[in-house]
Amino acid sequence: MTTRPPSFCPDCGTELGRTTEEGYDRAYCPACSAVVYHNPVPGAGVLVRDGADLLLVRRATAPHVGQWTVPGGHVETGESPAEAAARELGEEAGLAVDPAALDPVSTHALGPRDGKYTVSVLFETTRAATDGDPAAGSDAGDVGWFDARTVRDGGADVEVRGFVREGLRRVLDGD
Ligand SMILES: [Zn+2]
Repeated sequence: MTTRPPSFCPDCGTELGRTTEEGYDRAYCPACSAVVYHNPVPGAGVLVRDGADLLLVRRATAPHVGQWTVPGGHVETGESPAEAAARELGEEAGLAVDPAALDPVSTHALGPRDGKYTVSVLFETTRAATDGDPAAGSDAGDVGWFDARTVRDGGADVEVRGFVREGLRRVLDGD
């Protein structure tokens, strides 16, 4: 499996052809006689709320440098989405949380961006369920609290991606 459309076999390096499998157009390695799948990458993020406020981090790395978003990232091999979201919250915002304290909110199919697709799971938790003081960490240039309803409605000076606003709508409608 590859995260971007492959040109060469990841196992043997042979230039790939195409085949049709169950109606899907697939990359195919003639040397390995094997399909090379192009699948979405799993991701996870978390909405941390403190009363009316939502925790956001400002991205310090590509893509979307400078954009505010929820703490999150790719799921590592062997992790559950909740474990990934908890790890990213620690790495990017300095807050520790038990993955069991993260409640699933919504799932999203994102992309393609440069041929890459992502499937993301968004969780929610409360500030009270976390330990530590928010501080910008890896991949984050800044961290801050913003009025959740303003972020949901696309107001103020904070513009987040659509899937964050969609998840936010769900949790705020549930209040
Ligand atoms: Zn091959």
